Amino acid sequence: QQKRTAERLAEMDYLKTQFLAVMSHELRTPLNSIIGFSKVLLKGIDGPINERQAQDLKYIHESGQHLLALVQDIIDISRINAGKMELQLEEVDLREIVQSAMDAVTPLVQGKPITLEQHIDELPPLYADRRRLRQIMLNLLSNAIKFTEKGYISVSAQIVESWNTCTEQQESFVQVSVSDTGIGIPADRLTEIFEEFTQVDSSDSRSRDGAGLGLPITKKLIELHGGRIWVKSKVGEGSTFTFTLPLNSRGVQEVVRTV
Ligand code: ADP
Repeated sequence: QQKRTAERLAEMDYLKTQFLAVMSHELRTPLNSIIGFSKVLLKGIDGPINERQAQDLKYIHESGQHLLALVQDIIDISRINAGKMELQLEEVDLREIVQSAMDAVTPLVQGKPITLEQHIDELPPLYADRRRLRQIMLNLLSNAIKFTEKGYISVSAQIVESWNTCTEQQESFVQVSVSDTGIGIPADRLTEIFEEFTQVDSSDSRSRDGAGLGLPITKKLIELHGGRIWVKSKVGEGSTFTFTLPLNSRGVQEVVRTV
């Protein structure tokens, strides 16, 4: 009986993942049309539009992009949960990735008294998936901006050494922190936020922007790279998300093979 229940659960999980993956792909095509054609109209390519029409089209365009990001998150989490997320590992320069993510989020801080800072030590190249590492940085940075009204958001990175008691070897990691001076997270919610579809305050209009998938995806992508993530936070003062990535490529390859 127990075995049958377990089999049924596994089958349901598989079907759920399949359903999400197929649906998400089906949703993407019409969404891309909505985004593309609203942009065409906005640019006046099909003829002049008035100010109110431009405002409405802007909402359509933004909502389309928002929905596309949510769909992309659902694809990612179902791919990860099905064990089908594959990393394209190559040598990457962390500084370059941080810079590119910072550039992408700069428009989001416009109008807010927030400074964006970077303190990145001289680092050897990392063996990682460039696109996924950028996604990790974008998730952490956009959360920091979303939940911070004033102050600073800072990214720092340095090399740390630690002793692995399993392999009895010294290991080197790159440790990256994203700190903000935002609203912070209550101590009893700190582990929960890494779970799927969890938000600290879903009535908060900022939270309505997301689906509570950003951090679970970020955590799993980091773990696929052989690293880990944790958070320290104080309500009203700010939060610091820190993650590690192993420096030796052998470590990453081993993790990738066993995941
Ligand atoms: P979402 O995409 O909905 O924001 P996440 O998984 O990225 O989902 O984050 C989950 C929740 O964790 C957020 O809704 C928010 O309550 C909290 N959170 C994440 N990052 C921060 C931060 N830098 N400051 C304060 N709260 C945060």
